[in-house]
Amino acid sequence: MTQEDIQTRIIDGKKLAARIEADLKEEIKTFNRKLGMAVILVGDNPASLVYVNHKKKAAERLGIDAQIYHLSPVMTQDALVSFIQELNANKTVDGIIVQLPLPKHFDENAVIEAIDPNKDIDGLHPLNMGRLFIGQPHLIACTPLACLRLLKEVYSDLVGKTVVVVGRSRLVGKPVLQLLLNEQCTVIQTHSKTKDLAGICRTADIIISATGTAGLIRRDFVKQGAVLIDVGIIRTADKKITGDVAFDEMMGHASAVTPVPGGVGPMTVMMLLSNVVQAYKNNHLKK
Ligand code: NDP
Repeated sequence: MTQEDIQTRIIDGKKLAARIEADLKEEIKTFNRKLGMAVILVGDNPASLVYVNHKKKAAERLGIDAQIYHLSPVMTQDALVSFIQELNANKTVDGIIVQLPLPKHFDENAVIEAIDPNKDIDGLHPLNMGRLFIGQPHLIACTPLACLRLLKEVYSDLVGKTVVVVGRSRLVGKPVLQLLLNEQCTVIQTHSKTKDLAGICRTADIIISATGTAGLIRRDFVKQGAVLIDVGIIRTADKKITGDVAFDEMMGHASAVTPVPGGVGPMTVMMLLSNVVQAYKNNHLKK
């Protein structure tokens, strides 16, 4: 097959997110009370401020009551944990997120562990990570879920696909590997110390890249006809947003690729809201 034979599909994350939003809206109407989401932001990280406002707006479009708790960066770890415990006990709150990163003096792991795992809509609590790892997921991390939903736009069946995951973070790389293993894929995890990344990537039917290194995944890393999910978000010197994948190089070579922006990003926000709905159903409808 020549390169000209391939029509590369651009997987539109915005459109898919809009479709899921419409479905969630209908489902939420059937619940007998308004859902509540608490977003904790500590300090004034400008990127975090943008992200939390984005999440609040999306929640409001769905009729979810989203409260942003903007807390002082000089508060103590104990005070933050007590605040989270109050939200855990609050019956009007279905989901809680702590926007990361936290200022340096906080122990992020301990803060995440303070969240009630049944309200942990970021899916980062060790109990929820562990449940995913034993194949009994409860609340799953949002970006990995977004990757899976985007892949399901391309493949109705992922069984037996070879997936190379580039990156091994707690937030993306590790949980997405496990999620795809649970889908019966053969998964290879790579990272910054991997030897011959290009050669390993060339074995993949699907590459999921989550490194934050602009243009890392070049055309010669990619088997013709492979599918690429680009998680990376990098702000360039000229203030543009770009991803891990050398997008233009994939045209006519990959069979499908997610754009940055407009791919994984909008889907991640939608998966967070989907997790609010999931948390409500787990806690109130499945007893
Ligand atoms: P981390 O920095 O926590 O992890 C990055 C991972 O990439 C590490 O495992 C690192 O390896 C690996 N890595 C870095 N450089 C290379 C390289 N040259 N070759 C191979 N592996 C490499 O980042 P996150 O996982 O939190 O985020 C990754 C990217 O995804 C960022 O750009 C982030 O902004 C974006 N992101 C996007 C989201 C979205 O909604 N679209 C959501 C979350 C993140 P090692 O472990 O060896 O250091």
